[in-house]
Amino acid sequence: MNSMMRIYAVLGDPIGHSMSPVMHNAAFVSLGMPDRYHAFRVRQSDLRDAIYGAKALGFGGLNLTIPLKEEALKYVDPDPIAARIGAVNTINFSDGIRGYNTDGIGALRALEGAGVTVADRTVMIIGAGGAARAIAFQFAYSGGRIIIANRTVERAKRLAHDVGLGLSELGKTQSMSIKSIGLDRIESEIADTDILINATSVGMHPGIDAIPIPPDLLRPELVVFDIVYNPRCTKLLSESRKRGAITIDGVQMLVHQGAEAFRIWTGREPPEGVMREAVIRALR
Ligand code: NAP
Repeated sequence: MNSMMRIYAVLGDPIGHSMSPVMHNAAFVSLGMPDRYHAFRVRQSDLRDAIYGAKALGFGGLNLTIPLKEEALKYVDPDPIAARIGAVNTINFSDGIRGYNTDGIGALRALEGAGVTVADRTVMIIGAGGAARAIAFQFAYSGGRIIIANRTVERAKRLAHDVGLGLSELGKTQSMSIKSIGLDRIESEIADTDILINATSVGMHPGIDAIPIPPDLLRPELVVFDIVYNPRCTKLLSESRKRGAITIDGVQMLVHQGAEAFRIWTGREPPEGVMREAVIRALR
């Protein structure tokens, strides 16, 4: 069975923009594995059939992207972090139908790759959507002090509440610190921030001149991480670099979330350099 070629896939709607096929196929080729990765457009109402169908067809695993990550939770046996995040981006079929969320760990590894640790640091996350949720849970779990800043304050409040609840269920309450603010309070909170993360779509192609906070709030001591990966160097990152801040781009997170999925599926060490090069080439 192990020498058999396996099929992997990303499901989403739309799906044409996904970098995952290029990234994972480069990894399979580089390791001399016969496995292949495809993208399928799947409507939310067909997701259940698609997941069970992939299992029945002997697929190795799946990734889920917009708008299927939350819906997928209904059809899998989720790991504790994915269950608390409320969304699944990776499914493994080797032992039942197991669900994971590798977005948060991908973001964490992107920081670690730049020599940045999260424990006992103050992390301001701008955004409270799907990606921000995964990052907030993972970073709070890893001991960061979290500030969630969002345009819709109610959504930030709900995320802060969910993270607090989720972490206490996991028995992680000792040093937990999490609060929510509106965008108008970023200015008064940024002086105490060590790590600033843009987890909104602001700055993404085609709106590349947009920036989620006024550039004069950026300073050299900040680590600035933008999860937007198209373009790779967003306005936020270029303005941060100008001011001497350490910057990390969204391609790093994309590669690390994919690498983590690859580990879960294959048990092998993913060739991250090859995966990164494949993504960068495809983005050009
Ligand atoms: P989402 O669930 O739709 O959330 C979007 C977030 O952006 C919300 O917090 C929204 O605020 C905020 N937002 C949108 N337009 C805004 C504006 N003009 N001003 C202020 N805030 C605005 O999306 P998502 O899935 O979290 O994805 C967010 C971004 O991350 C996308 O660009 C996506 O491509 C990227 N991403 C990257 C990776 C990676 O691996 N690098 C992984 C996942 C996602 P409201 O709540 O007020 O609407």
